Amino acid sequence: MLYTLGTSCEICGDDISQESRCKMCGALVCADCLVKSNGLCLSCEEAKCYLCNDYLASRACNLCGKLVCEEHGIKKDESTICDECRTRDK
Ligand SMILES: [Zn+2]
Ligand SMILES: [Zn+2]
Ligand SMILES: [Zn+2]
Ligand SMILES: [Zn+2]
Repeated sequence: MLYTLGTSCEICGDDISQESRCKMCGALVCADCLVKSNGLCLSCEEAKCYLCNDYLASRACNLCGKLVCEEHGIKKDESTICDECRTRDK
C-alpha cells in the first residue's frame, strides 16, 4: 500500500505540487492557500491581529469588533478592549 504523508493542503485538501509552508503556523498548504506577499496561509492571514499584523489574534475587541492579539487587546472584566479603543477612550 502506497500512501503519501503531508502532501495535501491543510486548508483546502488539494494535492500540493510545490511545498509551501505558512511562516506563522507552519501548516503545509498549496500555492492557492498561501499569501505570497507575507508567506502566511489563508487561515493565519484571516486571523492576524488588526493592530500589529504580526501575531495571531486570539480575541476580538468588544467595542470595535476588530481581531487583536494578546499584546494589543487588554482584558477588562469580561470584555476585551483593543489598544486603539483604549487610547481613544481616554
Ligand atoms: Zn489549499
Ligand atoms: Zn498559517
Ligand atoms: Zn497585535
Ligand atoms: Zn477596539
